[in-house]
Amino acid sequence: MLGNGSVGLAGGTDLVPLLRDGIVRADTLVDLSRGVPRGVADGRIGAGATLAELEVDPQVPDALREACRLAASPQLRAMGTIGGNLRQATRCWYWRLKYPCYLHGGDRCHAREGEHREHAIFGNERCASAHPSDVAAALIALRSRARTTRRELAVEELYRLPTDDDRDVVALAADELIVELEVPTPRASVYLKAMDRQRWAFPLVGVAAARFEDGVSLALAGVAPIPWPLAGAADLEAATPLPGTAYKVEIARALVARALAAVGA
Ligand SMILES: Cc1cc2nc3c(=O)[nH]c(=O)nc-3n(C[C@H](O)[C@H](O)[C@H](O)COP(=O)(O)OP(=O)(O)OC[C@H]3O[C@@H](n4cnc5c(N)ncnc54)[C@H](O)[C@@H]3O)c2cc1C
Ligand code: SF4
Repeated sequence: MLGNGSVGLAGGTDLVPLLRDGIVRADTLVDLSRGVPRGVADGRIGAGATLAELEVDPQVPDALREACRLAASPQLRAMGTIGGNLRQATRCWYWRLKYPCYLHGGDRCHAREGEHREHAIFGNERCASAHPSDVAAALIALRSRARTTRRELAVEELYRLPTDDDRDVVALAADELIVELEVPTPRASVYLKAMDRQRWAFPLVGVAAARFEDGVSLALAGVAPIPWPLAGAADLEAATPLPGTAYKVEIARALVARALAAVGA
């Protein structure tokens, strides 16, 4: 039923405001609650599980539990699903105010020249937005895989930087749903988040680290138009901050060092 003007509705916490503001248009809303599984079992998480369910489930690795717990507010976590979280749209204020910017199909990034304190330090050449999902960074550090209605892929492959031919940052077709996430169990994992308030704020920088038998994986939230895997702390030196986002590099250095120490790397 999806595609051709029909849009899937899970908790509605991101989609409803976008519909209300006329940024997303839908002829029909398709209720996903009975089509997408929910619950956690044997390292698999149904994409319909809410963040509130995941933040208290002892089967869920620490990094993901903490990423869920630190996201949004209790009300939003009670409604918001992990599938919807992975598919959420950018919080860039120019985009949300419908400026005809690069991500909306235009030819310039208003944030690069304008207000960009909360924006990107990596991958920001065309669009400087900062991906808001704490959860995606945690799943990537945990080396998770997603099963969709069409295929199976690594969670990081759900995302791509926007190009002139395709301005979306999510590599899902309009009628493709995330059904389930497969989350390996690490030896240790952690999610650390710097934000403007201690509650109910998007990540200025979020750092997820997970230690496995063969090494540590890292991923960052809030630093690039997509969740940003990091091979190691040295990769932070390749950041391309804007004048207003240089402070994020300092925060990322500190949080990466703390996260590596926390997982015993
Ligand atoms: C004020 C506010 C603060 C927030 N703070 C944070 C934060 O700090 N950190 C953070 O990580 N997130 C944050 N969020 C995001 C929040 O976690 C998401 O809005 C929520 O998880 C989305 O889930 P939903 O079920 O409500 O999705 P919906 O709003 O129903 O859907 C969102 C999008 O996902 C699509 N979708 C839904 N389910 C699926 C699926 N299974 N497969 C594919 N596509 C799907 C929908 O079609 C739609 O395009 C915040 C949101 C708000 C409004
Ligand atoms: S950062 Fe991206 S979404 Fe924001 S104005 Fe620039 S192109 Fe648009």
